[in-house]
Amino acid sequence: NNYITIKTHINGEPKESDFELKTATLALSVEPGSYDVIVKNLYVSVDPYQINRMKTHSSSQKAVTASRRITPGEVVDAYGVAKVVASGNPKFEKDELVVGRIGWEEHSVIKEENLINKLDPMGFPLTYHVGVLGTSGLTAYAGFFEVCKPKKGEKVFVSAASGSVGNLVGQYAKLFGCYVVGCAGSKQKVELLKEKLGFDDAFNYKEQTDLKSALKRYFPDGIDIYFDNVGAEMQEAAVANMNAFGRVAVCGVISEYTDAGKRAAPDMIDVVYKRITIRGFLIVDHMNVYADFISTTSDQIRRGDMQVIEDIATGLENIPSAFIGLFRGDNIGKRIVKIAEE
Ligand code: NDP
Repeated sequence: NNYITIKTHINGEPKESDFELKTATLALSVEPGSYDVIVKNLYVSVDPYQINRMKTHSSSQKAVTASRRITPGEVVDAYGVAKVVASGNPKFEKDELVVGRIGWEEHSVIKEENLINKLDPMGFPLTYHVGVLGTSGLTAYAGFFEVCKPKKGEKVFVSAASGSVGNLVGQYAKLFGCYVVGCAGSKQKVELLKEKLGFDDAFNYKEQTDLKSALKRYFPDGIDIYFDNVGAEMQEAAVANMNAFGRVAVCGVISEYTDAGKRAAPDMIDVVYKRITIRGFLIVDHMNVYADFISTTSDQIRRGDMQVIEDIATGLENIPSAFIGLFRGDNIGKRIVKIAEE
């Protein structure tokens, strides 16, 4: 069984030499009396937050990494879609499709049954269940509707807007009736946002010399909601342009993940006088909206209202480069690696 691991903890920008492809023997059958489920992994998710689990433990990161650190030498666990090859657990049968916590490996042995669920593809490609109908979609949906609490007509700014979560936030916001501007790191991404995804406007943040005045140009009447995927200077510039009672949903701070010296320091006097809410969130706390999310989003996809943007690499051995590329802006939409044929 081939799998991907980290050689040591990674504290800065990840590089190919930080990762290793290893092999272990694995029998593809279960012992009598065992409740294990053995799955063949088909598609795995590649996500920026994994870098935080790969870092050396420090007290300031305790909340992030305490129970869920990735140990060098061990497989990197990750969300994905798989097929059951053997099962001692009566809830799962051979050849059934499942979705949940598998790993960057060819086969996974699932010991805790609550890590995976049976998957009904609902007529959609399996990759949709990793991205738009998986954790990225749920993050965008719960983050926008539950955390941002939008009202129709409000002005929404999304960073990393062509990425997996960001492009869906922008599309939900447009379909809901907001005015939406996104920022992304290339001309091609900006065109995608404006021409294919229906954003009202978009800009390349790498071309801006002054983010505060750039946002002032895109939002002359101020920002009501900022969906933050990147942190640091962009968060500071967005807060400076927020309207009274504005909401900042801090989904992630990718620009800070690989740069220990970088931290957002929004002007707190602005936060006080404009009564701004800055709220971090984790998707695990929003499972209550799961059923609504699936029914709303699957309808929007079927009607052609929601565009699905995927970026699929092939081969277990290409997971490290696919992952590293997230921090360089190589991906457009949800980055997934296909490990095996269905
Ligand atoms: P993306 O698909 O958005 O990929 C990452 C993107 O971030 C890149 O394509 C790049 O786009 C942008 N980026 C990379 N480095 C920087 C940088 N230094 N400054 C600005 N932008 C950068 O990933 P996801 O959609 O999976 O994740 C987006 C965010 O959501 C992350 O912060 C992630 O941690 C967070 N997240 C949070 C969850 C939660 O429960 N709170 C759950 C899932 C994700 P570009 O070309 O535009 O720079």
